[in-house]
Amino acid sequence: MDIAVGCADCVVERDHCHGTLIEHADGVVECTDDRCVMPYPVRHAMVVDCDAFAAGCGCDAHDRWNNMMLSDSAAS
Ligand SMILES: [Zn+2]
Ligand SMILES: [Zn+2]
Ligand SMILES: [Zn+2]
Repeated sequence: MDIAVGCADCVVERDHCHGTLIEHADGVVECTDDRCVMPYPVRHAMVVDCDAFAAGCGCDAHDRWNNMMLSDSAAS
């Protein structure tokens, strides 16, 4: 055994990714690993909604959602 990164999927040489998959509100997915070529949730141990980024992830859907929340609280 000479495996530097030893997660269970590495051991069985299953196709997978060690990055975190980010699912945006508009359905776009991206991975924190630049080398990730197939951003499918099934290949990732870590999958998060872009809502999890308190500062905003920069996607349009996220901005829309934030603006909606802001205007809601301002109107009341
Ligand atoms: Zn692995
Ligand atoms: Zn987003
Ligand atoms: Zn990935």
